[in-house]
Amino acid sequence: MFLKTDNQFLTTANIDQLISAEIPSDEDTIGQELCGIVQSTLVHSHCAGGNHQAPCMQGLNLLTATVCRTGYPRQFQEETTIHKDGYTSYRRRDSGQTVTVTVRGSGGRQVMTVIDNRRVVPYSPYLSLRYKAHINVEVCGSIKAVKYIHQYIYKGGDCATLMLDSEHDEIKRYLHGHYIGPTEAVWQLLEFSTHQEQPPVMHLALYLPGEQPVYFSEQESPEALQQQMDNSVTTLLAYFKYNSEHLDGREYLYHEFPVHYVYYTKEKPARWKSRQQGRSIGRMDLVNPFMGEGYYLRLLLTVVRCTQSLDYLRTVDGVVHATFKAACVALRLLEDDGEWVALFNAGREFMTGRALRQLFALALQHTTITNPLFIWQGFGESFRDDLQRLLVTGSVIPPAGGEGREVVLHLDYGLYHIQKLLSEYGRSVVEFGLPQLVLDWQEEGAVGVRGNGVMEEELSYDLERERELADSMRRQLNEEQVSCFNDIVAAVEHE
Ligand SMILES: [Zn+2]
Repeated sequence: MFLKTDNQFLTTANIDQLISAEIPSDEDTIGQELCGIVQSTLVHSHCAGGNHQAPCMQGLNLLTATVCRTGYPRQFQEETTIHKDGYTSYRRRDSGQTVTVTVRGSGGRQVMTVIDNRRVVPYSPYLSLRYKAHINVEVCGSIKAVKYIHQYIYKGGDCATLMLDSEHDEIKRYLHGHYIGPTEAVWQLLEFSTHQEQPPVMHLALYLPGEQPVYFSEQESPEALQQQMDNSVTTLLAYFKYNSEHLDGREYLYHEFPVHYVYYTKEKPARWKSRQQGRSIGRMDLVNPFMGEGYYLRLLLTVVRCTQSLDYLRTVDGVVHATFKAACVALRLLEDDGEWVALFNAGREFMTGRALRQLFALALQHTTITNPLFIWQGFGESFRDDLQRLLVTGSVIPPAGGEGREVVLHLDYGLYHIQKLLSEYGRSVVEFGLPQLVLDWQEEGAVGVRGNGVMEEELSYDLERERELADSMRRQLNEEQVSCFNDIVAAVEHE
């Protein structure tokens, strides 16, 4: 659910009205009721009694095992604050208000513990009173939430890694088990939708002149094929055509077009026509600068209005330039790494850290970024967004040597990943003016693989045995299966 701007929680006063992370005052009956609900469902108390077996205390590496994974108890604070990254720290005043709960202490014995505002899970007083249940409510206001939410939608069902004790259990061979709980199973069986997107996003084609796809079957006659080609319109060509025939659309950029027009495909060739109802937004594929002219074409489409043809796009001050790039230069669009800043800005909203690092390394290698350090400092956080977790969870153990030196681990580890990509071309980060690596992360690769059972298994095949097994199974194939098998293997090997 995305809220309209005037309904968003943009100020701390808004947030305090709707969300609380404090024990309510029990002066009136409603307060007493809410207080009871908070006490029984909304305090993080598993780890309050010194129980190191609590679920939130496990799975961390030895150095930090005494800290709650979810960060409780939090600090007292007088005011709610919204951080630059969009996260919110809720008001938890040191008011002396407490509740007493029974928890497991060290050794698993039941103990009574006094809980204050530092252990209250943020909640909505309204929802908690209405449903009398544990409902954790928090503000997700940053643009990062969009990336996060969409990654969840598309990441597929939950996966669990199973480990059973018995050596002879067949199930143990299935290291990866796919688990779907009963509620999700029913939901999927009844084919209910799992998510909706509103407004619809229209994908806008972006092809260089003459490169748009034309679909035809092998039996097509030359005349029919010619007709197919004449009718092969893309949203882009149709956009030019509309603007060359009409005046009303010329004020809109290509990606703004779907807001005001619909792409009508019932007749051939397809065309844009004025929108009567509904709304939609348009998005062009992200093209990176290595793709040459395609990139500059896209760049021009985002700034040049009244566009009626590709030639028109290439024309600046009456001069028709030979390439889109030359037109971009003439329009002064390519100064100060602006293209890279724009690219990484767009990319960080939906690309993973790994993909961004690859893009950055490629960019360093093949193009001219004037100031790589500026990009690294400006976008480094996004370049490393998958690495910090590896370090925090202990999946990657940092090498020795950082003691006594000021080293930010995830920063250095991120740099190491860039270095690894560059070294494939025999280059190094220092050549590009990036900081020097502090630690020797070479060892890390080995640790990572050794710690990963699935990887280990993939790397430890007994090739001789596999070959024998393949031969014996191949002998069991029937004639048709043999023919399929040969075709597939030939295709794979040919590739
Ligand atoms: Zn805890």
